[in-house]
Amino acid sequence: MPAFLTLVELRAAIAAIDPVAYGKTRNFLNGKVSRLSPYVSRGVISTRQIMESVLKNGYRPFVHEKLMQQLAWRDYFQRVLQQRPDLHSVSIKREQGEDGQRIRAGIPQAILEARTGIEGIDRSIMDLYQKGYLHNHARMYVASVVTNIAGGDWRDGARWMYHHLLDADVASNGCSWQWVCSAFSSKKYYANQENINRYAGTRQSGTFLDKTYEELPEMPVPESLKIVEQPAFQTKLPQTEALNIDPSLPTYIYTFYNLDPYWHAGEPANRILLLEPSHFDAYPVSDLTIQFILFLKDSIPGMQVYVGEYADLKREHTFGKIVAKEHPLFSFAGAVTEPRDWMFPEVSGYFPSFFGYWKKCERYLYAK
Ligand SMILES: Cc1cc2nc3c(=O)[nH]c(=O)nc-3n(C[C@H](O)[C@H](O)[C@H](O)COP(=O)(O)OP(=O)(O)OC[C@H]3O[C@@H](n4cnc5c(N)ncnc54)[C@H](O)[C@@H]3O)c2cc1C
Repeated sequence: MPAFLTLVELRAAIAAIDPVAYGKTRNFLNGKVSRLSPYVSRGVISTRQIMESVLKNGYRPFVHEKLMQQLAWRDYFQRVLQQRPDLHSVSIKREQGEDGQRIRAGIPQAILEARTGIEGIDRSIMDLYQKGYLHNHARMYVASVVTNIAGGDWRDGARWMYHHLLDADVASNGCSWQWVCSAFSSKKYYANQENINRYAGTRQSGTFLDKTYEELPEMPVPESLKIVEQPAFQTKLPQTEALNIDPSLPTYIYTFYNLDPYWHAGEPANRILLLEPSHFDAYPVSDLTIQFILFLKDSIPGMQVYVGEYADLKREHTFGKIVAKEHPLFSFAGAVTEPRDWMFPEVSGYFPSFFGYWKKCERYLYAK
């Protein structure tokens, strides 16, 4: 099991980010990436906090640009989700297969069993199963093999990866899978063996990816990827607790996407981590991910866990004011909704491409 970071360790990890080394090495599977996404996705820390910590360290403008851009990709995808809450199941710009590629349901067995024969990919998938983390480049390699090489439907691959990631995030996951297979971009993403050797530190040849970029899109589905499976995913939720609610106090609702330990910290309040079975039926996550959120909730004093639907929670108890954080996947009738933290709250709405969004963000970044 991976070691989860305490809040003290997390603060130290944010402070230790070196944007220069990040910019130079982030594409290598062993590069100096932050590995903070599980904490960002679970709402423990925000992209804004990371940005402010890096800016405080006094780096010259542009030195940190690559890191800022990557952080902004996350906020960009969240903005897309606000406009397209169905993006985990509906292609944003075009359907796969419009170019004549044959698309089929399921995921290649060789991917599920981490035996594609591409060492950089197979090792990464084993890491995903054991640690719940995948490097961005490895995610792109895997998604490209599943969709563009094997002709798999992006939704199946996305669901499988989401299930295993501690940083499972419907926006980043759905948009990225769609981006790779050009359902949300203008061009499919391919990586050949030479590229994987460079970034994964391997020296393989003769694999099904040992091709030129002209050859890859024309290639028939490799034999080793022909058998597909459609695994069923389920979430094992913990037991619900008997709640102790003081109706004279406000009630803060925490979710899978909001485990912010600093949210109204120190205020007398009821604090409930609401785990709705309907949410996890739609977006199933692994046992490791459930262990992770139960670990995270322990750093929020007074937190109680309710496993059930919001409507039942309200029917079973008497509440005063209920407060939640905005997130497109959740709607809590009668609750006051507070905004999430954004790097650039001024830049909102739907942008068809990241670079349109980033251009606007840059103005605010360099004015800081
Ligand atoms: C197919 C695919 C599926 C993905 N699924 C998810 C997912 O479910 N959850 C998720 O959080 N990210 C997802 N990503 C985006 C990205 O891969 C991860 O956020 C990143 O690898 C996290 O590692 P890190 O914290 O070490 O990132 P770092 O490189 O250290 O970056 C710092 C932070 O910036 C943000 N970030 C960096 N790169 C990206 C990116 N390309 N897109 C969005 N945000 C980024 C993350 O919040 C990250 O924590 C996916 C990418 C692909 C290609």
